Amino acid sequence: MSTDAALSQYLDFLRFGSISTDAKYKDQVNACADWLVAKLKAIGLKTALHPTPGHPVVVAHGPKKPGRPTVLIYGHYDVQPVDPLELWKRPPFNPGVENGIVTARGASDNKGQIFAHILGLEAALKETGDLPANVIVLVEGEEEIGSPNLAPFLQSHRDEIACDVVIISDSSMVAPGVPTFTYGLRGIAAIEVTLTGPDHDLHSGIFGGAVENPVTVLARLISGLHDKNLKVKLDGFYDQVKPLEKWERTAWKKLPLNDAELLKISGAPALRGEKGFTPLERIWARPTAEVNGFGGGYQGEGTKTVLPSKAIAKFTFRLVPDQDPAKIVALVEDYFRENVPPSVQMRLVPGHAGEPYLVDPHAGFGAAAQKALGRLFPGKKPALIREGGSIPIVADFKHVLGADTLLLGLALADCNAHSPNETFPVAHLELGARLNRYVLEEIAAK
Ligand SMILES: [Zn+2]
Repeated sequence: MSTDAALSQYLDFLRFGSISTDAKYKDQVNACADWLVAKLKAIGLKTALHPTPGHPVVVAHGPKKPGRPTVLIYGHYDVQPVDPLELWKRPPFNPGVENGIVTARGASDNKGQIFAHILGLEAALKETGDLPANVIVLVEGEEEIGSPNLAPFLQSHRDEIACDVVIISDSSMVAPGVPTFTYGLRGIAAIEVTLTGPDHDLHSGIFGGAVENPVTVLARLISGLHDKNLKVKLDGFYDQVKPLEKWERTAWKKLPLNDAELLKISGAPALRGEKGFTPLERIWARPTAEVNGFGGGYQGEGTKTVLPSKAIAKFTFRLVPDQDPAKIVALVEDYFRENVPPSVQMRLVPGHAGEPYLVDPHAGFGAAAQKALGRLFPGKKPALIREGGSIPIVADFKHVLGADTLLLGLALADCNAHSPNETFPVAHLELGARLNRYVLEEIAAK
């Protein structure tokens, strides 16, 4: 297909307002899934639309031949909401191209990246009538709302979508022109703690000093989570942490992503964190105990001399390989139960959890991914990075299908994913199409 035709189809894909979280857009979500089914059928894949209790999943199969690996290419056709609308340079679902950059909601996340893979498959099928490996394309419509129906779908279709490895392009390159392989992700465990002292707010003059203040108690408990070197003080918290390898520390120091840049992006007065590690190491390979919200008592204007009845704090713990979210939740519960004084009552509720993820970038499919990236940018060494965030579907692929995931991002760090004026370079369609070809070839050659 000509570049112009490819671009015009990509812009068509972007015209669907496939916002998964908002019921008003349900027709657009469905129309987008139908469009995708038609496209995948047109390039020669056996394609079906699978309804779920939420938005449909699109699954397509390439030519199946015995004796070669099966690669599952995952993406999502749903997008984030567009507000604040007034900050967009153009309507978010009326894509435009300026200086080789496409602006539209979903341009990078994830329509551009998954469409680039589809273009790669299309080119190979046209040229050879076949693909280098057995390929399954799975594109879901609920990624932006946490993929609630994906794990059950994988379970109920595990024979149909059994595969050896998963490829996802839904992340960023570390810098423009730098081939990037994300081989690790942090996990997460969320917990909410509520302390109740008196059964109603009290006059601090009449009771202050005799009744303990739950906000003070909770502040004390929060401050007990870290030592003076900003290490998490919970007993056993680091027991399962896989130490950083020497090559990782050396390689990360050379990445085109330095502390000054992190500081600038953060808008903080200074970077600070666990002693003994660089900021990138702290984000990518060290666990954290984070307070996401803390409150209690009077928050309005002026003074109110109150001894509050309640204090609440919300925590998330970002976890690294091989920490187990359930074990961390148990440690945190123990810490609070042992240290909460009898002057308050505690309610501790665990929230969502996700496992950390790590694949060996130098062995097996990881090595194949590196070779493919090397071919994509001749003469450049792929950047091997981890990410501090969590992608729970990666753990689902591992648990349900037993397959590792290769995260090969095609977006740029400044692509404004989830923000107004999301962008994707037109050239990355062709780049992603070639990546698709190379990675399938390298996996097949392994
Ligand atoms: Zn997203």
